[in-house]
Amino acid sequence: REVLLDVQNLKTYYPVTGGFFKRVVGNVKAVDDVSFSIRKGETLGLVGESGCGKSTTGRTILRLLKPTDGKILFEGKDITKVTGSKLQKARRDFQMVFQDPYASLNPMQMVGDIVAEPILNYEKRNKKELEQEIKALLTRVGLPEEAYYKYAHEFSGGQRQRIGIARALALNPKLIVADEPVSALDVSVQSQVLNLLKELQIEFDLTYLFIAHDLSVVKHMSDRIGVMYLGNLVELASNRDLYREPLHPYTQALISAIPEPNTAIKKERIVLEGDVPSPQNPPTGCPFHTRCPMAMEACSKEKPPLKEVRPGHFAACLLY
Ligand code: SF4
Ligand code: MG
Repeated sequence: REVLLDVQNLKTYYPVTGGFFKRVVGNVKAVDDVSFSIRKGETLGLVGESGCGKSTTGRTILRLLKPTDGKILFEGKDITKVTGSKLQKARRDFQMVFQDPYASLNPMQMVGDIVAEPILNYEKRNKKELEQEIKALLTRVGLPEEAYYKYAHEFSGGQRQRIGIARALALNPKLIVADEPVSALDVSVQSQVLNLLKELQIEFDLTYLFIAHDLSVVKHMSDRIGVMYLGNLVELASNRDLYREPLHPYTQALISAIPEPNTAIKKERIVLEGDVPSPQNPPTGCPFHTRCPMAMEACSKEKPPLKEVRPGHFAACLLY
């Protein structure tokens, strides 16, 4: 199917201010030259430790943050620099499901109003009709119709996330960026919410950018997966190839840390030394060289580009 979203050399830097006059003293390179595309109906997972730039990537794509450089093409249209009413119009097609269903819903607002709000931002609607529509949507995400008249604080975490999902669906978007949508939930309800997202994807013909730090959650959800480290995309492959044969030493370490349910298979766990360096002062050369068990001399000098090592399997590493 055709490409829905095409991200080219995206950079999102935050200025860092310091001193008495709050002068700009540097940049945090939160997203540093990231490229990928997502086809219609596909789920692209994005994994990496916290602070690696996954959320910033998602937010920049939705234009909740301003990109520093690069291009974002949505259905072939360049939305990198659109502003005002054009941005407002473009935003109809993409929505976000947030990590924290507690913080992202207004506790003082009736659930019906929370879900209707995005629609009313765009359209004048008949009140009765809209109410029916919202109730149908609430039922579809697994909530009772009466939820319409209640307040967000009256619901459990999993139910609140269902409200958040209903709100994201209200405008019938094409792309949903789900940023750690289950990581604040109890493990027992995580898979229910994930399965709901999968059902809705088929029913509403949705495309997902699915962000998570949990590799088993991403594996469950994604067709293809991108691995981020320190603002860089270091590996990109199909779900199967990534778990079967991770190429980048960072991905290999992440995957080796997944608990193996079958104890007959003993995997060698690769333990990484040290912390992730500061994105304000990233290492020269390969961003991973300070922790890489395979590092060679050239790794501190040369930054490896993301390269197609096998068909459809990309890695940014000088070993290939
Ligand atoms: Fe490790 Fe060098 Fe590959 Fe970077 S380029 S991941 S330091 S081997
Ligand atoms: Mg995050």
